Amino acid sequence: MKPRALVTGGAGFLGSHLCDALIYEGYSVIAVDNLLTGRMSNIDHLRREGNFEFQQLDINRPFDVGEVNYVFHFASPASPVDYMIHGIETLKVGSLGTMHALEVAHKYHAKYLVSSTSECYGDPLEHPQKETYWGNVNSIGPRSVYDEAKRFTEAMTMAYHRYHKVDTRIVRIFNTYGPRMQLNDGRVIPNFMKQALRGEDLTVYGDGSQTRSFCYVSDEIDGFIRLSKSDEHQPVNIGNPDEFTILECAKRVIAITGSSSKIRYEALPQDDPKQRRPDITKAGTLLGWQPKVKLDEGLRMSLDYFRQAVGKDVAARA
Ligand code: UDP
Repeated sequence: MKPRALVTGGAGFLGSHLCDALIYEGYSVIAVDNLLTGRMSNIDHLRREGNFEFQQLDINRPFDVGEVNYVFHFASPASPVDYMIHGIETLKVGSLGTMHALEVAHKYHAKYLVSSTSECYGDPLEHPQKETYWGNVNSIGPRSVYDEAKRFTEAMTMAYHRYHKVDTRIVRIFNTYGPRMQLNDGRVIPNFMKQALRGEDLTVYGDGSQTRSFCYVSDEIDGFIRLSKSDEHQPVNIGNPDEFTILECAKRVIAITGSSSKIRYEALPQDDPKQRRPDITKAGTLLGWQPKVKLDEGLRMSLDYFRQAVGKDVAARA
């Protein structure tokens, strides 16, 4: 019998890529999602797969999908646009949803890995960010619904580890991109790709000097799989340390799409972190993990997907 893995948020961008990887790793996978921000089209290709099952359910209520050997808890809105629209839902899935996912792991003595985020570091005063940095988060600002939900997720996870001896892992994910991102989720790469492919101005917020470090999805998933096999209970950063200003990122997207789009500057959102770059020493030492895909290469590999998504969007509006 194959080991059985539960993936919450299994129809999301990262959750669906994780389902693919787990099936490849020899798991039978049950994906659950309430489809608030996840999409069935992300897992359409798995519907005929014998080792895959999907259930639409809301993990903010107690749930039980039967015995599982591993719980991968990935449910949550994750783009600033999504989590600001769904603020209360984001807080609920980070707290109630996390508790219910941990209860499943506890009940079946399953291993557990949860997606956390670089947002735990807030607008960081330490650069690059090591796992030991406690962060600089505005607990009442507009981003707090996500940042504090994820910090609570980490606290709840460590509590189940300490009090109930659940075999937990925490991955802190840094800006990840690639195929299956929603065109309209508001994150910078889908926005820039969409705008460049439509010949519209690229909207750079602020003066574009804020930085991010972008990790291609296949590298990120490789990090999750390696962490899932380790015994590390403390958080581990998984992200690509190549750091770019947002203005540079816009220029790269214009170059790679061959677009004639120009850049338009817009207001910087409140509490937008000024810089972000993971220190990945721990992932390197502990997991032997290194990202392989450079930004230009990852953007090129994502181009077909974004072209198709823009085409479908045009067709849907016609
Ligand atoms: N950003 C931008 N233009 C856009 C979308 C985002 O300049 O159309 C900026 C945003 O202000 C932030 C960075 O790009 O500084 C990354 O934003 P994203 O929403 O992708 O993720 P974040 O890292 O802020 O969670």
